[in-house]
Amino acid sequence: MAGKRAATFEGPGPDAVWFENVKQGKFRIQHCNACGKNFFYPRPFCVHCGSPDWAWIDASGKGTVYSTTVVRVRPEDGQDYNIALIDLAEGPRMMSRVTDIPAPEVKIGMAVQAYIGPLDKETLVLFRPAGR
Ligand SMILES: [Zn+2]
Repeated sequence: MAGKRAATFEGPGPDAVWFENVKQGKFRIQHCNACGKNFFYPRPFCVHCGSPDWAWIDASGKGTVYSTTVVRVRPEDGQDYNIALIDLAEGPRMMSRVTDIPAPEVKIGMAVQAYIGPLDKETLVLFRPAGR
């Protein structure tokens, strides 16, 4: 298990399940059965009401850019990239990257669609402009 990010987690905690789902190409978030809200980042208790009664649901992958930052990279180290906070259609906000367009062209309010792809030797939930 050396070198695998999930190896730092013991047992099938929600975060380990999250990484396993993503590795298998599934974008799933947690839905609270007590208050009906969805949440992300993975945790054992609902962030809204504290209930342990929740289930995994498939996220639609639809989202809207809430904020965006261009991370400058020295030319010899690659290209500038974008880090964005994305408001998911299901409610939660997540940090990710918008790809497929130059980093400065990512705008607040832009509709984006999630996909699962490789980045920096990891498999991550990423976003690209919707309709592409
Ligand atoms: Zn709840």
